[in-house]
Amino acid sequence: MEAARRAQIVTLVNRAATEAELGELVTAELCEAFEAEIAFVLAHVEDHGPGIVGAYGLRPDEAERLPSQGVLDRSIEVPQLFQGPNLLSVGAKALVLAPFSTDTGRGVVGVARLHDERFDEAEAALLEAAAASIAHALERLRLAEERDRLYRQAHEQAQAARVIGSIADGVVLVDDAEVVQLWNPAAEAITGLARDAVIDRPLREAIPGWAAVADSLGSASDPASSSARATTLPVDVPGREIWLSIRAVRFAEGTVYAFHDLTEERRLEELKADFIATVSHELRTPLAAVHGAAKTLLRDDVDLGHDVSRQLLGLVSEQSDRLARMVEDILLASTLESPELELARERVDVGDLAADAVAGARVQASEQLTLELAVAPSLPAVAADRDKLRQVLVNLVANAVKYSPNGGRIEVEVKPEDGHVAVVVRDQGLGIAPSEQSLIFEKFYRADANMTRGVSGSGLGLYISRELVHRMGGTISVQSQPGEGSTFVVTLPTVGVRAGREASPARPARGSA
Ligand code: ADP
Repeated sequence: MEAARRAQIVTLVNRAATEAELGELVTAELCEAFEAEIAFVLAHVEDHGPGIVGAYGLRPDEAERLPSQGVLDRSIEVPQLFQGPNLLSVGAKALVLAPFSTDTGRGVVGVARLHDERFDEAEAALLEAAAASIAHALERLRLAEERDRLYRQAHEQAQAARVIGSIADGVVLVDDAEVVQLWNPAAEAITGLARDAVIDRPLREAIPGWAAVADSLGSASDPASSSARATTLPVDVPGREIWLSIRAVRFAEGTVYAFHDLTEERRLEELKADFIATVSHELRTPLAAVHGAAKTLLRDDVDLGHDVSRQLLGLVSEQSDRLARMVEDILLASTLESPELELARERVDVGDLAADAVAGARVQASEQLTLELAVAPSLPAVAADRDKLRQVLVNLVANAVKYSPNGGRIEVEVKPEDGHVAVVVRDQGLGIAPSEQSLIFEKFYRADANMTRGVSGSGLGLYISRELVHRMGGTISVQSQPGEGSTFVVTLPTVGVRAGREASPARPARGSA
């Protein structure tokens, strides 16, 4: 009978998947086995203090009070039997306690009867055996819990590593000695410094420019605090300077830096600032001329005479034209990015437009400049917005004039080129440095003032030209040799290629074969 009971307890104890389940199953079974009303298991785990594994036949508040009833006393080393009128302060008459110990602490199993029947030695021995099984089971469950915790931790770490590996922000972790422990792929991409070149090295050594910025970086221990706000700083990395928006957060073992690249935004901001400075200068010059001329015309005290008056009025007209063109450019540049800007698609004779542009430039060009126009015979019409294309060609020819301060020849050539018409504007002027050739088409970009010898401009002309030409399905490119001149080429699709299926029926282009 006793052996069967013991086996039953062992089975139950081993079946439990959690401590709570163990406590519940085993206390119920103990009450039945011992024909008792109350059973409990208490455990005292190191660092955690006493706790209730399970209790049967007690209200929660009574169970809570058990540890203070002396049942967990160290003096109880072997099973002990008690009798009394009010044991455990719940009116129990007989009580048997069996202590147990685990690798992380100790505990006690108790069974009590409310009726007056004592426990005997055999029952004490059975409880001792049960206590040993319970101790084992608790150790097993704690190990499983620890294993689960480690597994969860490893899983979370792997997940964190995946996140850090895939986010677009550079993430750097340094230890207390500022030695790099983590360097994610985005940090590699942004700085151009490979992980191997950085890891296990002090950050100040790994990023040459770091020392200079490190002191300007505040750090916070709470990522949400305001001192964890990003600081934008230039950082020197091999071969270039990049602008990083950096946030530093300190924690017990080091600091985490998260950053993203603002170099491009920064560059645009600088260009914009330059643009505002240039444009205000550019607007002021003609305005001053108009103002001066108007004031002179208004004077009553001098007789200007017909010729001078006409001259001044001519100046007002010319300068106000220049002002209007500049304002037009600024407005156009600001609408170019919006999809609403609609371009017309008409049959356009590029030869005519080129002739207009050259004729216009001749009026303004100095005597040291010669302008030549060569339009191929049998030129097909292109599908384009006539006014906008005129603007592009005028701008290219005007630039050729502007950037040829020492004179020379400017050739404008218009010729067919499989499915396209190409306009070539060639000058013998200042030329453009190779490093700037791709940049000059960007909004606000102006080449270095030394290079352009102080020629004025807004940096919008080529940007507007590129955007317009692209919208007309064409291309624009430059080839240049500093000091020798530049060649700009615009190509546009001919009517047959792009506009053949347009609503306007395809008339054979003028002079086409
Ligand atoms: P802007 O002439 O008003 O400065 P653009 O957008 O027309 O603006 O041109 C951008 C830059 O490209 C100019 O500042 C100049 O440095 C360079 N550039 C354009 N055309 C020429 C050219 N024909 N020769 C030399 N440099 C040129």
